[in-house]
Amino acid sequence: MAACIFCRIIKGEIPCMKLFESEKTLAFLDIGPLSKGHALVIPKYHGAKLADIPDDQLSEILPTLKKLVSATGATDYNILQNNGTIAHQQVHHVHFHMIPKPNDTEGLGIQWPAT
Ligand code: C5P
Repeated sequence: MAACIFCRIIKGEIPCMKLFESEKTLAFLDIGPLSKGHALVIPKYHGAKLADIPDDQLSEILPTLKKLVSATGATDYNILQNNGTIAHQQVHHVHFHMIPKPNDTEGLGIQWPAT
């Protein structure tokens, strides 16, 4: 979708701090992180809500989220996915947040690729 900001990131029209890319999936650091290492994993297929995305376009999402969690070393973290304005979705292209919860003030950051 032409005006979708995440579609424009996928096309390379808007820069991002890319962590992982495949034919179906893109992962990048969130531009407004809630903690160090806060990342987003998105299907390249455009759909506003989870129910709009075909199953086969979602197959890499959870494995990618798991790899990102490993890359941060976080033991505590949130996986979050908002659907609809009332549910606090701001970007209407499906995305999954991986938000590490550091237990110190330094934060965790991210080591990618995971070791
Ligand atoms: O789930 P929600 O739609 O509220 O989250 C959108 C997220 O997309 C925000 O955390 C925001 O910082 C992020 N974002 C981004 N890069 C952009 C635009 C938004 O990482 N260019």
